This record gives sequence, C-alpha cells and structure tokens, in this order.
Amino acid sequence: MREFKRKRVLVTGGSGFLGSHLCERLMADGHDVLCLDNFFTGTKDNIRHLLSNPLFEVIRHDVTFPLYVEPDEIYNLACPASPIHYQRDPVQTTKTSVHGAINMLGLAKRVKAKIFQASTSEVYGDPDIHPQPEGYWGRVNPVGIRACYDEGKRCAETLFFDYYRQHRLRIKVARIFNTYGPRMHPNDGRVVSNFIVQALMGEPITVYGDGSQSRSFCYVSDMIEAFVRFMDAPDTFVGPVNLGNPVEFTILELAERIIAMTGSRSTIRFKELPSDDPRQRRPDIGLARETLGWEPTVALEEGLGETIAYFDRMLGSRSPMALTQEG
Ligand code: NAD
Ligand code: UDP
Ligand code: UDP
Repeated sequence: MREFKRKRVLVTGGSGFLGSHLCERLMADGHDVLCLDNFFTGTKDNIRHLLSNPLFEVIRHDVTFPLYVEPDEIYNLACPASPIHYQRDPVQTTKTSVHGAINMLGLAKRVKAKIFQASTSEVYGDPDIHPQPEGYWGRVNPVGIRACYDEGKRCAETLFFDYYRQHRLRIKVARIFNTYGPRMHPNDGRVVSNFIVQALMGEPITVYGDGSQSRSFCYVSDMIEAFVRFMDAPDTFVGPVNLGNPVEFTILELAERIIAMTGSRSTIRFKELPSDDPRQRRPDIGLARETLGWEPTVALEEGLGETIAYFDRMLGSRSPMALTQEG
C-alpha cells in the first residue's frame, strides 16, 4: 500500500461549478485546499459548506495578478466558462486565460509544483473532424465572438507546453468537454441549466437554430474523478487529453428528454443560432481510457435526475413544478 501524503493544493476558480466539486473531492481525500476566486461567476454558496473545515481556506484574488503561496499542486480552473459570461468582458476573458496561465506557471516554476490546466473542447472550434481526437488542431475563428475564450485557452495551452519544454515543469493539460451537474449557475445560459430551469418554471424551452447541432454531456462526478486521476498519473503523461462523455445527443433530443423527465408543460421555442456555434462535438476518449483507465459511468438520465433535483430545490416555491409535485 502507498503511504498517504497530505498535499497542499491550490484550486483557482475554486468557488465555481467544477472548482467547488474539486475542492470537496480533494478534502475528502485528506488534502489541504486553498481555494482562490475573484467571484466573477463563482459564488460563496458553492463553498459555504466547506468553510468550517480546517482543511479549507479561501482567498479572494484575481489570477491576472501575481500570487505568492506555496502549494504542492495547482489546478488552474479560473475562467468564466459559459458564452454569456465570457462574452460580457471579452478582453478580461483573454487576460484571465493568458495572464492567469503565466502567473500560475510562474508560481509552479518557483515552488516546483505540479500544475493542471482546465483547457476545453473549444480549442477544436467548429470541428470538421468528428469525433475529435487530441491530434486534431481545430478550426477556430480568431476574430469571432467566441475567440476571447477559444484563443485564450489555446494560448494558455501553448504557454503550458513552453514552460514544460523550456523550464521542465510538470504539467497536465486537460481538454474538458461539456460538463453538467448541481452548482451550475442558473443564469449562465448553458444549455443544460437553461433547459432545466425553463422546464421547471413552465417557460418555453429555447432551442437555438433547429436543434440538430450535437453535444456530449459529462456528469460532474465523472469529470472530477478524471481530474484527480490525471494529476496522479506519471509525470511523463502531460496531455493534452480529452475528458468528456462520448455519448452524443442533439440539442433537440436534450430538450425533449428534460421536458419528459420534469413532466413539464413547457413548449419548445426555436431561436436564432448564435454565430460560430459548433455544429457537432464529441470527444474521442481513447487516450484517457488507455492512460488513466477512466471513462464516464453516469448515464445522462441519472445525471439529469440529480441536476433537476438540485435546481428544483434552488428554485423552491418559485418553481411551478414544485407545486405540481406537492399536490
Ligand atoms: P465557472 O464559471 O462556474 O467557474 C469559473 C470560476 O473562475 C468562477 O468561480 C469564477 O469566479 C472564477 N474566475 C473567473 N475569472 C477569474 C479570475 N480572473 N481570477 C480568479 N477567479 C476567476 O465555470 P466552470 O464550468 O466551473 O469551469 C471551470 C473551468 O473549466 C474553466 O476554466 C472552464 O473554461 C473549464 N471548462 C469547463 C467546461 C464545462 O462544461 N463546465 C468545459 C470546458 C472547460
Ligand atoms: N509569479 C507569481 N508567483 C510566483 C512566481 C511568479 O505570480 O510565485 C508570476 C510573476 O508575476 C511572473 C510570472 O509569474 O511575472 C511568470 O514568472 P516567470 O518566473 O516564469 O517569469 P518572469 O516574468 O518572472 O521572468
Ligand atoms: N443552446 C440552446 N439553447 C439554450 C442554450 C444553448 O439551444 O438555451 C445550444 C447552443 O446554441 C449550443 C448548445 O446548446 O449549440 C450548447 O450550448 P452551451 O452554451 O451549453 O455550450 P457550448 O456551446 O459551449 O458547447
């Protein structure tokens, strides 16, 4: 048996959706967690239950500014992730990815920490290869409205690999595909949270375009398991590695499934497709299967059930579905 070593772990973006689940998991494994966040899209509600735990510490800080702390490992998640949030202040989004990566890499270099980067399937843009393997270089519009996020994340990958080659840093670059679950922001415009909130409120479900575009949805607990396995994998495995669920659905199928699961009376309202919206997306997870022995285990139906229950609790009496369920 391997001896347990308590690590000091820095999680940037730790009060966000994925970050808060990651902090929880690391603490459950017995590690000391320093959660860093500027609360741009994250909220204290996501971490309130962790605040009284002596393994947990939180610091309000913006990753675009230097930071001097002494962790053994860094998970760099700080960055708004939903289109409406990252497009609200696009210059700040690029700065967060690029200056944030430089600062966290500089920190990792000084203290010799291992560092994980939350990259994204958006580095593939609107892909003309399907499903997307890691060797595909992508098809990104560098001047479009998604570019602040896509190109920022691409540049961050470049920085990670240059610090790896030039300074021999121990890096881990994960390309995360659409992930969902409890603690998604109810108003961040992402499809799963939008559809569930609309269905629970009995409002029209807003399908952009004709709904034939596809995505693959990974439940949050599967994703966090992959993060931890990747961080613990041998230093020679640096990525980039795709993490996501390879089961693909059209957006219309997702809408219909959520209406059925909530028993909602909502109708579907078709709206204009935003520009540069990728037509299709599905990860090739062969590399993650082989190197991490990982694949998702939570089916969409099960994950949606947990997420619907979360939003139902959050909306409370405001949700007409709550009234229907009570009587
Ligand atoms: P989120 O918006 O819930 O979390 C991001 C967190 O980063 C928030 O708490 C926010 O306040 C914080 N943040 C933003 N800018 C910051 C800054 N300058 N300094 C400090 N903190 C800052 O989003 P999420 O879904 O949890 O995403 C986490 C990471 O995973 C992001 O880097 C995102 O790009 C990546 N990712 C997520 C998905 C997904 O489907 N959820 C997919 C691909 C990649
Ligand atoms: N940095 C930081 N914390 C540290 C060390 C560095 O925030 O503990 C930041 C610092 O702002 C620096 C950046 O990381 O500009 C990159 O550091 P590096 O040592 O790679 O390069 P430098 O710019 O210092 O030559
Ligand atoms: N989408 C939709 N209705 C919504 C929100 C999103 O039809 O209310 C579509 C969106 O156009 C995209 C897909 O759902 O094709 C996924 O959108 P999301 O913003 O969740 O993630 P991303 O586009 O980054 O994959």
